[in-house]
Formats: sequence, structure tokens, C-alpha cells
Amino acid sequence: MSEPLGPVDAAQVPRFAGPPTFARLPRRDQVEAVDVAIVGVPFDSGVTYRPGARFGPSALRAASRLLRPYHPPLDVWPFAVQQVADCGDVACNPFDIGEAIAQIEAAADELHGAGARVMALGGDHTIALPLLRSAAKKHGPVALVHFDAHLDTWDAYFGARYTHGTPFRRAVEEGIVDTDRLTHVGIRGPLYAAEDLAEDARLGFGIINTMDVQELGPRGITDRIVERVGDAPLYVSVDIDVLDPAYAPATGTPEAGGLSSRELLAILRGLVGRRLVAADLVEVAPAYDHAEITAIAGAHVIYELVSTMGLEGTV
Ligand code: MN
Ligand code: MN
Repeated sequence: MSEPLGPVDAAQVPRFAGPPTFARLPRRDQVEAVDVAIVGVPFDSGVTYRPGARFGPSALRAASRLLRPYHPPLDVWPFAVQQVADCGDVACNPFDIGEAIAQIEAAADELHGAGARVMALGGDHTIALPLLRSAAKKHGPVALVHFDAHLDTWDAYFGARYTHGTPFRRAVEEGIVDTDRLTHVGIRGPLYAAEDLAEDARLGFGIINTMDVQELGPRGITDRIVERVGDAPLYVSVDIDVLDPAYAPATGTPEAGGLSSRELLAILRGLVGRRLVAADLVEVAPAYDHAEITAIAGAHVIYELVSTMGLEGTV
């Protein structure tokens, strides 16, 4: 197979020009095969508060133009050691959550079937459920590290069982995640009831809350995550609201007192060596952004995840 086709050369075409793909990478139709599939999922009909994450993929792509090809702390060229391509957006029905979930699952199945790892750009957190289903079809029940201010293990909201507040309870019920290997990171903020935490623990989740991050530091947090994940196939789901609103104002359900971008990137770097088979970055709602703060943070999170995939070799 030929060498991976990388981003458009910034010495030839300036970063503010050129293709609107993620990190100016090639489109899928420009390459023979894909190791890492960047795919947009512009769906936000599952939100409970501010809408707008349907515009997340395009904002993340625009903010990714400045990502450069070499990652010094990890000493990896993420777009040279593997073929990363922008596979466009999943066309999902904005008026029918069930149909949208099926469309997202089918799109992810096709990418996994082609041998790619999936890096999804949301969209609201509803999309994690079909993405997890698809990963589990290929790899069996997956370990899950879920970065979020919120648990997202509600049972239902206004009677709806498929929303951005419920994907991980559905995932446990469907047996698509390994219940010995479930971790939330960054939980904080008020809840409706203490029972929410008790139920979450019954589902199998361990919680690393925001104060733990302050007390243990990124390395201590990574050690706790790695201990729980082990060598299992891993899915990482990042809700951008795990960051403090100072670092990520443009999101649907902001909570004060969150992680800094630096803490999140450091924790993600500690996942090198895990079997990262798929990931998502969700809940960027650019209408509430200022100076692309949130979209830039999100683009860097995606870069970390893709770099980790590049260091781990074939799944
Ligand atoms: Mn959240
Ligand atoms: Mn969430």
C-alpha cells in the first residue's frame, strides 16, 4: 500500500485557504483505504437545554486548520503513521431520533467494516449510543471512558428514552459496554437527586469527579483510568462540557468548575497504549462560542485521540 496521504502542505497553500476537511486532510474518495475515519454527525435533536450542536462538525473542521503534523509530547506524526481521512457527515433525520440513531449506526458499521477506527464529531451526546453499538459489533463489549460534567445515565426525560442524557444507561442495558470497565471523568454540578448517583453506580460506573482531578493531577487520574480499562478494546467519549465554561463556553449544558484544556489534554495523553478503537467529541454548539475558544479546544482533543490511535498500531 502507498504512503498515507497527509494534510495539504501549509508551505504550498496557506492554512486559511484550501479544503474545508478536518485538519485539511484528504477526503475519503481521495485515498485507497482509511485507518482512522473522521466523520461528522450533525445531530442535536436529543438535547435538553441549548440546541446548536448540529453545527459542531463544521465548526470543529474550521478550527482544525491550524493543527500541525507533528505531536512533540507523544513524538508521533499522527497523519503519517496511518491514513486519516475526512469521511464527511452522516445525513441524519433531525425530526426522528430513532431513525437518526439507525442512520448513525449504519454509517459507523460501514466504516468499521472497511477496517477504520471511527473518530466522530458531534452532534449531541445521543450519538454515542449508535457509535458504541457499532464498535461493540466489531470488538465485543467495549471499555468506556466518558469525559463529561454529567452522568448521561438518566432513564428517560419527558418520557423519551433516547436523548443526550441517556445514552450510557441504554448502552449498559444493551450489553454493548463492559460493565467492569466503565468510568466517568469530570463529573460535577447539581443533580435532580442523590439517587442519580446510586443508580449510576449500580449500572457499573466508577466516577472520577472534578475535585479528584484537582487533588490527584492528570497523572494520578490517568493511572486510575488505565487500571480500570486494562487491555480491553476502548471507546472514549468526550463531552466538551467536561471543560470549564471558561475553556468551552459553546456547549448546550454548561457547568461551572470544570477541567482546564491543559488538564484534559494531559489526561488523554496518558491513554497511549490502550486499545482505542473508536471515539467521539460531542456537544460543541458554536452559536455560543467566542473567538472559536470551544471549537479550538475540541479540535485539539480530536488531535490527541487520533495521535493515540496512531501510536497503538492496528487493532
Ligand atoms: Mn454534559
Ligand atoms: Mn454528555
